[in-house]
Amino acid sequence: MIWREMSDSYASVIPTDPSWQPEGEAAESAEDYVRSVFPDPGTTGQEITTEFYDRITVVDAGENLSRITCPSCGADIPLEWWAELAEESEGEFDDLGIVVPCCNAHLRLDTLGFDWPCGFARFEIAVLNPAREDARFTEDELTELAILLGHPVKQILTHL
Ligand SMILES: [Zn+2]
Repeated sequence: MIWREMSDSYASVIPTDPSWQPEGEAAESAEDYVRSVFPDPGTTGQEITTEFYDRITVVDAGENLSRITCPSCGADIPLEWWAELAEESEGEFDDLGIVVPCCNAHLRLDTLGFDWPCGFARFEIAVLNPAREDARFTEDELTELAILLGHPVKQILTHL
C-alpha cells in the first residue's frame, strides 16, 4: 500500500480487473502517454509513478472516503469496519472475498459502494499533485490508456 500524505492529491488509473497486470512495454507506453497529457511545469511538485503490486492493493480515496454501502442489503457499512480491515491486511489482499457486517452476505470488496470510489489493483499509474487545471483524466484519455495497456481502466481520485 502506498501511504499518501494527506495534503497531496492524486489522480490514479487502474485496470478494471483487480488481478490484471499489463506487459512491461505496454505499461511504459501508457506512462509516456500520461506524461504527455499531464505536462510538468516543474513548479507544483507533480510526480508520475507506475507501480506493479505483487498482491491486490488498495488504491483509496483518502479523506474523500465518506461512505460505504452494501450492494446486498443497501445498508451503510461502518467506515471503522473498513479502516480495521485495511489496517490488518496492510491494504493488500490475495482474494477480495469478505463477509459484510450488515447482513453477513459473502461479497467481494470491489463490489461495495465506496463513495468516493476506492480501487483494488495490481497495477497503477498515479499522477501526484497534477499541475494542469483539469486534474482528472478525461474519458478520451481513459480510452487511450485502455488501448495502450490492452485492458479497460478506471480512475481513482484522492483528495482532489
Ligand atoms: Zn448488507
